Amino acid sequence: MSDLKVLIAGAGLGGLTLARSLRTHRIDVTVFERDASPWDRPQGYRLHLDADALGAAREVLPADLHAVFDATAQYTEAFTTILGTDLSVVKRLPAQDEHGEEVWPAHDGPGSHANVDRATLRQILLAGLEDTVRFGKTLDHYESTSDGVTAYFTDGSRAHGHVLVGADGIRSAVRRRRAPHSETVDAGITAIYGRLPRATAEPLVPVETMNDIFTIASDERKVFLGLGCVRFPTSPAEAVARFAPGVPMLDQDDYVVCIVGGRHEYFPNTDGAMRTRSGEELRHIAAETLRDWPTGAAELVRGADPASFFLVEMYTSVPTTLDAPTNVTLLGDAVHAMTPTLGRGANVAMRDGALLGRALKRVADGQLTLADALAAYERDMLAYGFSVVREAAEVGRQRMAQNPLPA
Ligand SMILES: Cc1cc2nc3c(=O)[nH]c(=O)nc-3n(C[C@H](O)[C@H](O)[C@H](O)COP(=O)(O)OP(=O)(O)OC[C@H]3O[C@@H](n4cnc5c(N)ncnc54)[C@H](O)[C@@H]3O)c2cc1C
Repeated sequence: MSDLKVLIAGAGLGGLTLARSLRTHRIDVTVFERDASPWDRPQGYRLHLDADALGAAREVLPADLHAVFDATAQYTEAFTTILGTDLSVVKRLPAQDEHGEEVWPAHDGPGSHANVDRATLRQILLAGLEDTVRFGKTLDHYESTSDGVTAYFTDGSRAHGHVLVGADGIRSAVRRRRAPHSETVDAGITAIYGRLPRATAEPLVPVETMNDIFTIASDERKVFLGLGCVRFPTSPAEAVARFAPGVPMLDQDDYVVCIVGGRHEYFPNTDGAMRTRSGEELRHIAAETLRDWPTGAAELVRGADPASFFLVEMYTSVPTTLDAPTNVTLLGDAVHAMTPTLGRGANVAMRDGALLGRALKRVADGQLTLADALAAYERDMLAYGFSVVREAAEVGRQRMAQNPLPA
């Protein structure tokens, strides 16, 4: 074990990817997570992963856990399907053609896009890190000196290390101090998410959409219905039994996530009332938003489990710069949060985690100073991270009338 001691605030996908990388490199790491447990709040269902996240998973997971990842991931065709409001296929867009070379990471043939279940991925990343992740620890602020950095938590406790990484999401407490000039702004979009069993969705949507990255229908208001399928080639429980016995894993059946979204004004959100709605009420609002469409769309939404519905009000970061690093840095949504139009936020967060892990290994090995390693990491991370923020905002503007980024 090296002498370097790393503190991470936030056990989301980015923070856990970094923690796994540091464990592989035998670097001392502790993760402090605000939630009391991994299942405290809904965090979404399906995740689209591209070459960034698939590469990071390959890099940081040990062979047994990567086998579980691989066995439970649905490797999709590299297409997005556009449907009419009657849910018939209008066209299938190759991912590359629609978004251009810059937006999606280099295409290395089949297997470069996957739909995975977020909870399954989080359990895989957490497996074996029980002694590393402290739940119920909310970072309040930190103090950085030439001796290192001290993190202060809301329960009055503190921790000291050589470096603190803010992986604490879109409302990052670390960013407040590390980048006080940075801004996160309302993207103008409300979305209601729910999920339904695959068998319920199948009769209502064209079969070819079930193996695509994403499927979307929208109307002249740019109100949209998005669909994303998760099919487990091997069920999570069976994959664990086969490849990593003893790892805790919730079993799940195949499902389709449905998203009804559009500009805030199309949703009845007087004084933030949507935030207090029950799942059943959100389902009703989502179905009503599609009431002028042919009946199949609302029928599909009504087929989803009422308890599965939750609300997302979309925000985006505004591309910015960071002051020269000392011993505190940021990753993932804590620095370059983006709207989920491209399904790339988790990918970039995991890429950050793997990249920063490699940079810190060079510090632990005595090849680089901490300041030089963080400067190189931040230069790369800010360049690719904010380029995806800009692309997500532009595609969001075209597809769902997202507010443009401030100049
Ligand atoms: C509905 C939805 C669908 C999405 N779909 C996709 C997709 O298909 N593909 C994709 O790539 N991306 C997708 N994204 C984006 C993706 O979820 C995020 O970009 C990704 O989760 C960012 O990871 P992160 O680790 O940076 O932050 P998070 O996952 O937000 O994790 C941050 C963690 O920090 C914790 N935390 C917060 N404050 C503190 C504190 N003060 N102290 C300690 N801990 C703290 C939080 O509890 C949380 O666990 C989607 C997002 C949403 C909302």
